[in-house]
Amino acid sequence: MSVLVVTEHLQGTVRDVTRELVTAGRPLGPVAVAVIARDPGPLAAAVDVEGVEEIVTVAAGADEFEGDTYQQALEALIESRRPRVVLLGFTVNAMSYAAAVAAKLGLGYASDVHGVALEGDAVIATRSFYAGKVSAELEFPGAETVLLLLRPTTWPPAEGTGGAAVSSLAVEVAPPRARHVEFTEPAATGDVDITQADVLLSIGRGIGDADAIAQFEGLAAKMGATLSVSRPIVDAGWMPASRQVGQSGKTVKPKVYLAFGISGAVQHLAGMKASGTIVAVNTDPEASIFGVAHYGAVVDLFDVAEELEKLY
Ligand SMILES: Cc1cc2nc3c(=O)[nH]c(=O)nc-3n(C[C@H](O)[C@H](O)[C@H](O)COP(=O)(O)OP(=O)(O)OC[C@H]3O[C@@H](n4cnc5c(N)ncnc54)[C@H](O)[C@@H]3O)c2cc1C
Repeated sequence: MSVLVVTEHLQGTVRDVTRELVTAGRPLGPVAVAVIARDPGPLAAAVDVEGVEEIVTVAAGADEFEGDTYQQALEALIESRRPRVVLLGFTVNAMSYAAAVAAKLGLGYASDVHGVALEGDAVIATRSFYAGKVSAELEFPGAETVLLLLRPTTWPPAEGTGGAAVSSLAVEVAPPRARHVEFTEPAATGDVDITQADVLLSIGRGIGDADAIAQFEGLAAKMGATLSVSRPIVDAGWMPASRQVGQSGKTVKPKVYLAFGISGAVQHLAGMKASGTIVAVNTDPEASIFGVAHYGAVVDLFDVAEELEKLY
């Protein structure tokens, strides 16, 4: 069983998801990490983390991502190395070429995977269906190689230093059909950036109505925390979308995440479960948020807010 992880990088920096893929791949077998870039050398050093046995560089393409280049490079990597499992992030970049590679080479394939395991020789991938309401385990009978796109922030990023052997693969790639024109930073919203906060006080539908927003804005300010919200609060127009945590909002990893009146729907968890310490307050002891919380209180959130007001 061998695992090939494909590095994702942006503007000369390796994205966190790459080290998350290493963590996911390690229990499956020896991990090799491929770096596809115009100049892969500096990026290779950044993926030499604990558990990586080999780094394969492919000098191809431009500075920015090109789907056609990655497709051709990954096809060549798979044909030359025959890995059992290929892991990519479930990201906009990977979505643009991964399915084409799988179709062309006849690989097993699944996207938005949030669990992966071995049962005997079989690779089992877990993904959700019906807007996260159903989870299914998939296997890939007859597939020599399985290509999986893993959901970002599901595994912690691999840390440490590795000492991996570095090799290179020469690949002739045809000129891409798309041309990179310019890189544009997302427009600033003028609001705070919840992804940079150390402490997030996050509120959900459990706060009841819009009048409670001011109270929690005040409490967050007193605590030195940043206010974030679940989607219903944005859908109701009570807070801007820039404050939303989750699959269709932002992915956050604060040191402390306080979830007040948030049930813990899978789409919310996708955006916050990598947080350092998660504290959940919910009147429903069965709420899914308690499944990821390090500390939990089954109590009315307004009682906790009142106690916190007294403390700060
Ligand atoms: C494609 C798609 C994308 C989505 N993207 C996102 C996303 O990015 N982010 C997101 O958050 N959601 C997202 N959702 C919505 C998600 O499925 C849930 O509907 C949503 O997260 C629920 O928000 P909530 O936990 O605030 O509300 P609810 O699920 O209604 O939970 C409210 C909780 O508050 C508790 N509560 C009530 N009163 C009190 C009280 N007084 N004290 C303490 N606890 C109390 C209740 O027990 C309950 O658990 C998405 C859905 C889809 C289909």
